[in-house]
Amino acid sequence: TTQVEEREFQAEARQLLELLIHSVYSNKDTFLRELISNASDALDKLRLEAFRNKDLVVDTDDLHIQIEADKEARTLTVRDNGIGMTRDEVVGLIGTLAKSGTAELRRALAEARKADGGEAPSELIGQFGVGFYSTFMVADKVTMVTRKAGEATGTRWESAGTGTYTIEEFPEAPQGTAITLHLKDSDDEDHLYDYTTEWKIREIVKRYSDFISWPIRMEQESTVDGETTTEMVTLNSRKALWARPKSEVTDEEYTEFYRHIGHAWDEPLEVISMRAEGTFEYQALLFVPTHAPHDLFTREHKRGVQLYVKRVFIMDNCEELMPQYLRFIKGVVDAQDLSLNVSREILQQDRQISRIQKRLVKKVLSTIKDLQANDPGKYRAFWGEFGRVLKEGLLLDFDNRETLLEISSFVSTHTAGNADEPWTTLAGYVERMQDGQEHIYYMTGESRQLVENSPHMEAFKAKGLEVLILTDPVDEMWVDSVHEYNGKQFRSIAKGDIDLDSDEDKEKHEEQDQEFADLLAALKEALSDTVKDVRLSHRLTNSPACLVGDDFDITPTLEKLYRASGQ
Ligand code: ADP
Ligand code: MG
Repeated sequence: TTQVEEREFQAEARQLLELLIHSVYSNKDTFLRELISNASDALDKLRLEAFRNKDLVVDTDDLHIQIEADKEARTLTVRDNGIGMTRDEVVGLIGTLAKSGTAELRRALAEARKADGGEAPSELIGQFGVGFYSTFMVADKVTMVTRKAGEATGTRWESAGTGTYTIEEFPEAPQGTAITLHLKDSDDEDHLYDYTTEWKIREIVKRYSDFISWPIRMEQESTVDGETTTEMVTLNSRKALWARPKSEVTDEEYTEFYRHIGHAWDEPLEVISMRAEGTFEYQALLFVPTHAPHDLFTREHKRGVQLYVKRVFIMDNCEELMPQYLRFIKGVVDAQDLSLNVSREILQQDRQISRIQKRLVKKVLSTIKDLQANDPGKYRAFWGEFGRVLKEGLLLDFDNRETLLEISSFVSTHTAGNADEPWTTLAGYVERMQDGQEHIYYMTGESRQLVENSPHMEAFKAKGLEVLILTDPVDEMWVDSVHEYNGKQFRSIAKGDIDLDSDEDKEKHEEQDQEFADLLAALKEALSDTVKDVRLSHRLTNSPACLVGDDFDITPTLEKLYRASGQ
């Protein structure tokens, strides 16, 4: 049957499309980068699938991307002979905004809808990856013909981006995907945005997609002696960026590569390039992003470091190369001495891989340390985005604990409220420690305000003692297993008896203890069901009473956490 079915886009997809159709976003050229990026992914997937699945009958000899422009018809087609999509995949991947990368965008769109006017700002396009949908910035109709490798029949999809699309069986579709844009009429007389112009296409490919490893081809006309001939030319240099020395690669090239592999739209904050020669050769190109993706704390998060073997893409998010607490790092590791057949199971046991991981981690941490020392502004930007994740390493990465403590920053009673310098390092804290102060004091809690206004804080304020204010959930965890920094022990001000007194104070307190002994005994008796002990506090200055935990008790926040999780 070749029945045409009309379907609706899912609500958020509809809203996004609406936004794109009326977009005044200035950088419309990026639609081509998105199409090429998808085509390149599809070719990677096919090569890998053909290698793994010997039953799959496909021709992988000439995998490539082809661009075809038709000036008369005003169409632009991007064609690949990659993995293709089944009908269900087309509906799921193209008809809905279901991918994790768009969850944040979805929220932003929903918020805009709720707000007055309901207009979503066009900057949203620049902030989030809109991928395939970006075609609707330049096209008033998009047609997609695709056939999944190994499937007998194909699918044709078409939409004007206005709420609905049509989908039908399309038996004659070649394997792979062809996306044809019916370009909007452009009113620009200089043809700056005429995407059927050869030089324009050439320029965009060069700028955004030069490093793509598959050939991007286009037919080129040339007239010699009145005779017009056409020939197929390859537009991209195909040079793997990680194989080139850093000095020869421009910032723009790194940015575009980062965006391609990370499906990101921001700029990299830092680029790390490494190579190892000898018994186990590999090259690595890593990026510290500028912005944390919204899904960094959910299971959905799955981008990360890609593994290549001898220039061949093997897998996304290779967890064996980057530990969980550095999951925000994006990039590529290209290993020379692994088999193309390598699997997760093999990687997990490979000693070379764990050695590479160790080196990558050290390099990432030392890069952050350099930022901290030489570019405080950048370091602060980094810490604001990724500090919460990095601190997970304090718990998990025993080998690098010292370095992690050094590059970590904390809010403290000394820095709180200081917009220019909101955090202190532990080194900074230690430097400000008072004569005779032995411990690094901290208090954990749900918010800065709660901690700052805690009765426990009073005596420390009165004595001018600095206290770290730890309010991230992960803080509750690491303080239990990290005991000291540079020989100075961490000490919770909410636990046990902290002795802040001079000898003179002590004498006075003993007198007071005597004086109130009867009252304390009576209180203890009366409260015996709820508290372990009642002591006269010498710590409070304003509050009449406070609850303290024993040294080895869990903290109230942790208690709440456990209770919430039903333990
Ligand atoms: P992203 O690439 O970030 O996943 P896109 O909107 O660019 O988001 O694409 C959505 C999905 O559609 C892709 O993940 C892929 O599964 C599928 N897709 C898009 N273009 C192609 C293509 N040329 N060949 C095969 N699948 C494709
Ligand atoms: Mg894409």
